Amino acid sequence: MSRTVIAEINPAALQHNLNRARELAPNCPVAAVIKADGYGHGLVRVARALSEADAYAVACIEEALQLREAGFSHPVILLEGFFDTAELESLARYSLITVIHHEWQLKALEQAKLAAPLQVWLKVDSGMHRLGFPPEQIPAARQRLAACNSVAGPVILMTHLANADDREDPATVRQLARFDAVASDDRSIANSAAILGWPQARRGWLRPGIMLYGASPFVTGSGESCQLQPVMTLRSTLIAVNHHQRGAPVGYGGSWRCPEDMPVGVVAIGYGDGYPRHARPGTPVLLNGKRVPLIGRVSMDMITVDLRSQPQAGIGDPVVLWGRGLPVETVAEHAGTIAYELLCAVARKRVRHIETQGEK
Ligand SMILES: *Cc1c(COP(=O)(O)O)cnc(C)c1O
Repeated sequence: MSRTVIAEINPAALQHNLNRARELAPNCPVAAVIKADGYGHGLVRVARALSEADAYAVACIEEALQLREAGFSHPVILLEGFFDTAELESLARYSLITVIHHEWQLKALEQAKLAAPLQVWLKVDSGMHRLGFPPEQIPAARQRLAACNSVAGPVILMTHLANADDREDPATVRQLARFDAVASDDRSIANSAAILGWPQARRGWLRPGIMLYGASPFVTGSGESCQLQPVMTLRSTLIAVNHHQRGAPVGYGGSWRCPEDMPVGVVAIGYGDGYPRHARPGTPVLLNGKRVPLIGRVSMDMITVDLRSQPQAGIGDPVVLWGRGLPVETVAEHAGTIAYELLCAVARKRVRHIETQGEK
């Protein structure tokens, strides 16, 4: 038997979650955000499951070209635009939509001689202070784009919310006001947190990412409480059961010691697969459908679990690290991170991704 670490991907859950976005904002077109290899789920697989989206949004031209090579003719938006002027020809050839977030990109467009004009989304920095033009520079930037031969059609104004994951944070209201002061009807505001938590931001193009994968964007709460279904279930098996005496140290550093004579299970999963090294003792792991706590440090290929609640557990028993039955958000919380990072980190070279259907 070979090492059995598997990421099960459920395409029906992706479709369910897309429909959830549509229910919340029925008249808004959806750009499904599938950057970072579809948040670790596999870019092309995710695109296929979400082919009913109105567009795809990715981080760079390499991701966009993978979609074109796989035969997708949807509009594709590059969320950070082009990184180099040399990309412009390919953007035109493959009709990719570019975000313009900086003066250098605007200049490059003005100087370009392209075979076909490009569609453009213009990024407004409404308060996140990462990418985008400050609102007061937007009217001039729009005029320049309108006059530019390399630009086709209406320019969509977009902005990104920095604090929408906290439903109480007034920063979101301030960002919306700053954006609305310069925006036209063609616009795009809402990430997952805004779609789920901020009704006043459900306007124009939606840009859901994490919610499509079934995880909650909020500081607390799970995808299930937002009526989302988890898409990835990360599975492995128990590869050893050992009995150790009271006081015996377990794992690197020996920082965890057995409080009594007890059975300890070893699961084939580790940070080399993308399981977070910072997961603390007590992080839940589903063994035979029931939670057991992680003990000791996470190794590259293995973790150890406390089997006192399941002394009958045996080698080969099924383990779920996150997904169906154990929200990835719960594991993220125990590892001091967010679901986004855990999903993106699942090692594509090591963890076999397979598609599944519905309940199991
Ligand atoms: C990644 C990203 C999104 C999606 O965010 P989620 O929180 O995953 O929904 C939306 N817009 C932009 C600009 C992004 O970079």
